[in-house]
Amino acid sequence: MAKKPKQPKFYERAIKNWPEDGRPREKLFMHTTYDLNKIKFATDEATFKRAVGLYESGKVTEVEQLGGYYSALVLGTKSYRVSVSVRNYKHGHCTCYLGEKDTLCKHMVALALYAVMEGKPLSDKDKQLSHHAECSERRNTLSKEELVTIKRAIAESMRYIKPYRGSSRTWFANQDSLREGCNRLSAIVSDFPVSRQVADILVKLLLRLERKLSVGGVDDSNGIVGGLAGELVALLEEFARIDPLCIDAFEPLCRKEYCFGWEEPLVRILDERS
Ligand SMILES: [Zn+2]
Repeated sequence: MAKKPKQPKFYERAIKNWPEDGRPREKLFMHTTYDLNKIKFATDEATFKRAVGLYESGKVTEVEQLGGYYSALVLGTKSYRVSVSVRNYKHGHCTCYLGEKDTLCKHMVALALYAVMEGKPLSDKDKQLSHHAECSERRNTLSKEELVTIKRAIAESMRYIKPYRGSSRTWFANQDSLREGCNRLSAIVSDFPVSRQVADILVKLLLRLERKLSVGGVDDSNGIVGGLAGELVALLEEFARIDPLCIDAFEPLCRKEYCFGWEEPLVRILDERS
């Protein structure tokens, strides 16, 4: 069991500062423009897990909001002075070794967790990370409303998979954005039921990713998008095994000459069937 944070939780402080006439004397915390999902999708797994550990064991102390920043004293082997922006949790500072080098550290992420959770406990689902596309193995079709929601979510995630046009200074930010987009897409597709209809959506997604790389100017030299494409292909192979009707959805992959060869296992399945 995780220990509770030692200092009063945010909402306890908020209640204490809420006078009887219903108007707060001071605004304690400004709302962050990010939420827990943003932190989960945009932070690497190891840093996120360490940050959760710090947050849950009450190591984030003396949290205050100053202007557009939260500040705190995060306890570890030493105590670190940490700050993160209310607009972007990657903008901030920490007195630890990584923070001094302007690298996002577990202390900054722990403070960001405190800010979005307002000191409240994280549930198991909150802590769950799905940075890999997995098959739900559920079989059912989606309603019209669900389809609309899914398409919107995919379109929003695709916006993070941006072309790279800048200087070397912005290259890391661009790669972070690719990673966040792919993490978001992994989470979306891992929730998909197995059906022909969903297989069509996955094939379309695969083709869109291919276009992003071939003509969209996305620099995938770290293999982030390619990694997701490989996971999508494996997912579609699972679909074909669970429901052979899904194999029909692979047809568009045979019509074009693809440069990446991602589609090969799926084309083979289609060939073997006919
Ligand atoms: Zn740090």
